[in-house]
Amino acid sequence: MFVVECKVKPKPQQIQAIDEAIQTSQFVRNKVLRYWMDNRGVGKTELFRYNTRLRKEYKFVDDLNSHACQTAVERVLRAINKFFDNCKKKIPGKKGYPRFKKNTRSVEYKVSGWKLSENRKHITFTDKKNIGKLKLIGTKDLNYYQIEQIKRVRIIRRADGYYVQFSIQLDPRDTVEPLIPSQKAVGVDVGLKYFYADSQGNIEPIPQFYRKAERQLNRANRKKSKKFRKGHKQSRNYHKARCRYARKHLRVSRQREEFAKRKALRLIQSNDLIAYEDLNVKGMVKNRHLALSISDVGWSLFRGWLEYFGMKYRKVTVAVPSHNTSQNCSNCGQKVQKSLSTRTHVCSCGCILDRDVNAALNILQKGLSTVGHTGSKAFESEILSTLATANGGEDPSTLIGVILSEQASSVNQESPRMRGWGVSIIYSDNPPGDNNDQ
Ligand SMILES: [Zn+2]
Repeated sequence: MFVVECKVKPKPQQIQAIDEAIQTSQFVRNKVLRYWMDNRGVGKTELFRYNTRLRKEYKFVDDLNSHACQTAVERVLRAINKFFDNCKKKIPGKKGYPRFKKNTRSVEYKVSGWKLSENRKHITFTDKKNIGKLKLIGTKDLNYYQIEQIKRVRIIRRADGYYVQFSIQLDPRDTVEPLIPSQKAVGVDVGLKYFYADSQGNIEPIPQFYRKAERQLNRANRKKSKKFRKGHKQSRNYHKARCRYARKHLRVSRQREEFAKRKALRLIQSNDLIAYEDLNVKGMVKNRHLALSISDVGWSLFRGWLEYFGMKYRKVTVAVPSHNTSQNCSNCGQKVQKSLSTRTHVCSCGCILDRDVNAALNILQKGLSTVGHTGSKAFESEILSTLATANGGEDPSTLIGVILSEQASSVNQESPRMRGWGVSIIYSDNPPGDNNDQ
């Protein structure tokens, strides 16, 4: 699965129609969620049946394409499943009880309710919301794909306008030639001091997008607040200021994404195995003193892209538990206590390293040992039988290549972009977590 995004410039009356479609999708979502809350124990079937009832009851719901209504129900199901999942896994803290949405920004169609023009430069929405025909702006060429490969179409409202996304059923691995093995493995330690430090001694400084933009953002935010009138309908000037503020944020988040993507791709291209810490960023952001810098750095984005590119280019990505990686000596394994402010690792064995490079080495070691132990009994016997049948013709290194790519595909399943699409439920009728226990 993979996503192509195009900007569109709807006319004012089309904007109204799109906003109404989005609004309707949100209405369905919230109604279905309310129904689930009020009727303990109802499952998927009842929720879909309730959706059908809503379509009969409200004309504006009926006007939205029926599959688009279904995706709204699927969104609720996803939230519910996630909540049950978190409870089952006993994740500490809040479990994410599904909440009502009041600021939905998108509506998602499946394979009906829209039609592409002959040259695929225009899309027409054909349901009764009357969005009509939109020109797809940009250089993305949809002619490259089969229409049947387009499984979802989504209209998104952002601070700087409207976009149409196409979710295309295509294995990203099929779109690229496998890279020539670099014969290198690397451990990556992310930190507050650097964006990351790797076991090869490279250090990537933190991009201070947010900090740089901070003054501007604060100024825009102050202007917005000044125009806010408590208990009144907000003025046109308030909304102008609010949009300006939102656009500035959007710019920063795009810069951040671009950066994470670029750095991740570089690491994947120049290594065959990448090990990194399985950090609990959510827990760390709760620490107020670290919060701004952590969310600024964007590790989760970075990790998402690492795993995506790892899958795409058939490289191994391993997340290792973050335990004592910065304290232990990467040379002799002895624990050398140091506080956050101690930047250099000095061990009695004579090993002197930058704190984060030492950690990166530990992470690489852990990563390598994890990979060595992940082969299940069945998998091992498979390897042994392959070895037995390869009558001396098989070079052991190609076999290792096979194992690595096997693992790469099992470790990584989706691109960070696709998370919002809930790809896992698009093709099967059983959303994850829904199959047995409900
Ligand atoms: Zn040592």
